[in-house]
Amino acid sequence: MFETLLLNFLFMLFPVLIFLIFFENRPHAYNRKILVLLSAITMILCIARPIRLETGFIFDLRYIPFIIAALYGGYRNVFPLYLILNIYRFYIGGEGTVHSFLFSTAVLLAVPLMSRSFIRSRPQNRIIRATAVAVLSMGCYLIVMSMIVKNFDRQFWMLVFYALATHAVMMAVLMILLEQIITNLRNRDRIMQSERLNVVSELAASVSHEMRNPLTVTSGFLQLLNRSKTLTPEEKGYIELSLQELNRAEKIINDYLSFAKPQSENIVYSNLQAECEYTKNVIMPYATIHKVTVEFSFSNSLRTYYDRTQIQQCLINLYKNGIEAMKGLEEGVLSIDISERKQDILITIRDTGIGMTKDEISRLGKPYYSTKEEGTGLGMLMAYSAIDKVKGSIEVSSEKGKGTTFLLTIPAKAG
Ligand code: ADP
Ligand code: MG
Repeated sequence: MFETLLLNFLFMLFPVLIFLIFFENRPHAYNRKILVLLSAITMILCIARPIRLETGFIFDLRYIPFIIAALYGGYRNVFPLYLILNIYRFYIGGEGTVHSFLFSTAVLLAVPLMSRSFIRSRPQNRIIRATAVAVLSMGCYLIVMSMIVKNFDRQFWMLVFYALATHAVMMAVLMILLEQIITNLRNRDRIMQSERLNVVSELAASVSHEMRNPLTVTSGFLQLLNRSKTLTPEEKGYIELSLQELNRAEKIINDYLSFAKPQSENIVYSNLQAECEYTKNVIMPYATIHKVTVEFSFSNSLRTYYDRTQIQQCLINLYKNGIEAMKGLEEGVLSIDISERKQDILITIRDTGIGMTKDEISRLGKPYYSTKEEGTGLGMLMAYSAIDKVKGSIEVSSEKGKGTTFLLTIPAKAG
């Protein structure tokens, strides 16, 4: 029996290993299908190699991958498993086929209901919950079975004990592994993102610094030249144009690059009120041009240290994106709300614009990712960088065609 247990454990590890080794770096949409497929293989292997007790009873661990898929993936991902399970079970046929069908249907209907709150809860909580679900569903199965068999001898209780214990231990061990893997992947992503921000902002800081002098000198001399009396109107036109373009270059530097390094003279200790109101006023004309209504509310008393220009730039970039997402729509609303929760300052920026798909959200903040014709793809990068510097986080939720919400969480600091 011990050998079959180990074998079953190996079956459980199989999707985890294959996934980690071969598929972990591929894009997300593809990953789900692979995981479902691998879980299906595990399930079939579990059915093919059930655990036999000395008393003659048999049970297997097919519901462990099933429940895991249901909890993490919801109805959409567990349904293929349900189909495969039952097709295979009917193919084998024999006693208990109908019971198995009914029981798997019950699990299919009940367990994914928990999926949403499961995904939102903490890793430790998830481990406990998944184990509880495995034990409970096995318990239900055994209760139903006992009512059919009507046999409560010692052997039956042995089965109950072994089945419940195996499910609990297997599920707990597997969930600990899975959660550790998820944590590791998350950490890696975070490190990569922060590494990217560092590289870009260092580069930006030095480039913008070096660029500014030649720009100022050129524009100064062009202005002098422009005063010359001997210029033809055509030549004057050229100079005007050059000045305009120089201005634009300077603006780009100011907008995106100049604040890459926090400057000590800009650091303030405050509750963000001045910055939020200032940036709202800055963005108002832009909103009006695009027929966007701006709703603003401020209720925050918590304070922290931050670089004033960076936070301003970050907010402006986010407001601008919101407004640009509502470009061309009949009417749009950009709502900005600053509030507090426990020890965090919360800034919510919501638009009713075009929205983004999950894939697009995951690309946000990568350098030069832009879907706009004149976009630079630096706005979000700078927003992430500024929030990163105050140890905050940005959460994005979006629905295509409905709108997008950015939630910035900035921890408050005692003065
Ligand atoms: P840019 O605005 O120059 O394109 P950003 O870094 O500011 O660069 O934004 C990157 C991309 O993210 C945008 O091109 C857009 O596709 C997407 N995006 C950002 N904010 C929003 C939003 N509020 N709604 C929809 N898409 C957005
Ligand atoms: Mg932008």
